[in-house]
Amino acid sequence: MTDSRKGRCQCGAVEYEFTGSPQTIHACHCSECQKRSGSAFGLTMVVNRKNFTIIGQVSTYVRAADSGQTNTSYFCPNCGNPIYGEVERLPDIVTIRPGTLDDTSWFKPERHQWTESAQSWFEFPEGCEVLPKSRW
Ligand SMILES: [Zn+2]
Ligand SMILES: [Zn+2]
Repeated sequence: MTDSRKGRCQCGAVEYEFTGSPQTIHACHCSECQKRSGSAFGLTMVVNRKNFTIIGQVSTYVRAADSGQTNTSYFCPNCGNPIYGEVERLPDIVTIRPGTLDDTSWFKPERHQWTESAQSWFEFPEGCEVLPKSRW
């Protein structure tokens, strides 16, 4: 029996579920993640697509990344809450916005990336990997 985790948007119209352990959880301080989250950084939880199920109708926003590939953001059409994303060059994964999980107590980002554009007041926690740009 695999562990199943659930999440939902602010209004509850969109729900999702995934099984298994995330591949990685990181904080991204790039300007796009700051913009998308409306915050100082974005959190990304990488999960195998085959373990991920979305329940409800989602809207999409497709943006061209610096690499020339596209990044697609999926959000609730009713409350606008970003739920997850897709990276064109990595078709086997989805990138969940883990603040939408029902239980947010169990995860912690293991890496901070694009720290060259991080807010100047942010202090990086000890023991986590800090990358000026991105690794993937
Ligand atoms: Zn919603
Ligand atoms: Zn980012």
